[in-house]
Amino acid sequence: MSTPSLPEVPEFAEPELAALRERYRAERDRRVRPDGAAQYRRAEGGFGYYAADPYAEEITREPLADRVDAIVLGGGFGGLCAAARLRQQGLERIRIIEKGGDFGGTWYWNRYPGIHCDIESYVYLPLLEEVGSVSRWKYSPGEEIRQHARAIGRTFDLYRDACFQTGVTELRWDDGEWVVRTDRADAMRATYVVVSHGTLDHPKLPGIPGIESFRGHTFHTSRWDYGYTGGGPDGGLTGLADKRVAIIGTGATAIQAVPHLARDAQQLFVFQRTPSSVDVRDNRPTDPEWAASLEPGWHARRRENFQAVVTGQPVTEDLVDDAWTASAAVLGKIISTDARAGWDPEEWERAEELLDFATMNRLRARVEQVVDDPATAELLKPWYRYGCKRPTFSDEYLPAFNRDNVTLVDTADSGGVERFTDDAVVVGGREYAVDCVIFATGFEVGKSDVMTGRLPVHGRDGIRLLDVWRDRGVRTLHGFSSNGFPNLFHLGPLQNASSVNYVHVLDEQAIHVAEVVAEARRRGVKAVEPTAEAELEWVETITASSPDRARFDAECTPGYYNNEGSARPRITFPAGPAAFQRLLREWRSGDGINDVLGDEG
Ligand code: NDP
Repeated sequence: MSTPSLPEVPEFAEPELAALRERYRAERDRRVRPDGAAQYRRAEGGFGYYAADPYAEEITREPLADRVDAIVLGGGFGGLCAAARLRQQGLERIRIIEKGGDFGGTWYWNRYPGIHCDIESYVYLPLLEEVGSVSRWKYSPGEEIRQHARAIGRTFDLYRDACFQTGVTELRWDDGEWVVRTDRADAMRATYVVVSHGTLDHPKLPGIPGIESFRGHTFHTSRWDYGYTGGGPDGGLTGLADKRVAIIGTGATAIQAVPHLARDAQQLFVFQRTPSSVDVRDNRPTDPEWAASLEPGWHARRRENFQAVVTGQPVTEDLVDDAWTASAAVLGKIISTDARAGWDPEEWERAEELLDFATMNRLRARVEQVVDDPATAELLKPWYRYGCKRPTFSDEYLPAFNRDNVTLVDTADSGGVERFTDDAVVVGGREYAVDCVIFATGFEVGKSDVMTGRLPVHGRDGIRLLDVWRDRGVRTLHGFSSNGFPNLFHLGPLQNASSVNYVHVLDEQAIHVAEVVAEARRRGVKAVEPTAEAELEWVETITASSPDRARFDAECTPGYYNNEGSARPRITFPAGPAAFQRLLREWRSGDGINDVLGDEG
């Protein structure tokens, strides 16, 4: 085993370091907006059509008032893992309730051209061995991922009880079970409820003046309008051959869509506010011989290996060996880790900053090597620390700017696109006349319907979860469950641990919840509910020792990682995902589990 250590730290002359720090500060300052996160508007009300489902016919069905063992809210990978793991533990009736027309979650909604997984599929996709498949590409296209979600649904017989195109409107604990009401007048009853709403589930739009009056065609990338563009996720957007197209935003989504728009549109304007860091992709088909040689248990081993590498843990081999794992030394600001234990914090911080500068210099040099026009290349260079923004990977994005029909329009000085006229996008007083505007402007982040109050949750004696959390602060045990709300489990980042391979995190959470439920059933315990003491202890653990990333976040260019520049503390298990998963395993097999299984009634 190699011991975790920083790679050789590069040397920088002090004036160069000072200049880089100053440049980062200046680039950040010109992007911070006083309205912060309030600059965006949710796709609802008059903008609700941006979130409408373009893929499924509306179904009709009678309201349900039946009783099932478990109801899972959300049919993305989190919900699918929860349902599959509960099935493995022997639950018979499991109902997933999902707003979309099928399983897949983000991969149901996002079907834009070029869509791919940007974490290696062999570690990203859950339940590969259970379903009996190996993806066809190292980084799967979206459709393959969506089909895998459907295959999980079939393998674990989850279609039988699923309710699609259904939104849950209330959860209420009543007489020892949950009553789940929906926007289809259902009032179903379930012993257990698992909430897995996802973290990036609702499209958001920029509040750009004049957005209502633009008369051309518009849509959000997560509801791609192939009726207008022609083609499909693999490209061939023939409907754009005579169109002037604007895409607003240059995050992970736009990085994948732009090469297709560039190829197929008559004219493409890319409106950029902050450039993404764009590293090497190097996608390739799966080698069938390698796939055939995989031995049982390979998937768990590979996922754990990836998690270990990106959190700086000792490994004998880097199985994934890609741009993520190559950046492991500078991922510490995105993923908590105990790998730095034993280091002098100042020494570590200094080393990490130098490695960060070297990484970002390499990525800026890549822009210069690929993009022919020096002025365009200059605008495409990211000036912030690695991980301030979601890192991206593409071998086609930067070359797209060498095409004659592609124009990069930088909007940093005006805080984004200034306004719309009825036929143009305006930046710096200049009008860019276009036929179509595509919003690649992202999603509301981390605001589950439970946290916003859109989904009221009433526990014992009718108490409201949000009222409790408002009065006493958010309180959970391990992020999963709360006192007063028996048999209710939350999946997601809340008071939990996270990683860049988020589906792995969700699957580990699902395994945990299913094992706790199974143990409760074995012991005949009716209500799984943490004691108030255990809950308080966990909150103290997680808040007292959370690493202070506030300074890093505050110095970052604004984005959803730092709440648009007004950073709030990130409450996450400080030792990282592997340590958290270990803690849960030990808790389940020791006395800890009695903290939630103490109540026989
Ligand atoms: P993001 O939130 O990452 O990006 C939104 C973009 O819109 C940013 O470039 C932002 O600029 C820009 N923007 C917003 N408002 C304006 C404005 N008024 N004028 C000009 N530009 C504006 O959304 P994405 O959909 O790209 O990605 C969301 C997340 O989805 C990713 O971070 C990633 O986690 C996930 N994803 C994952 C993929 C995968 O393969 N696993 C693939 C694609 C996405 P600025 O940066 O300045 O705010």
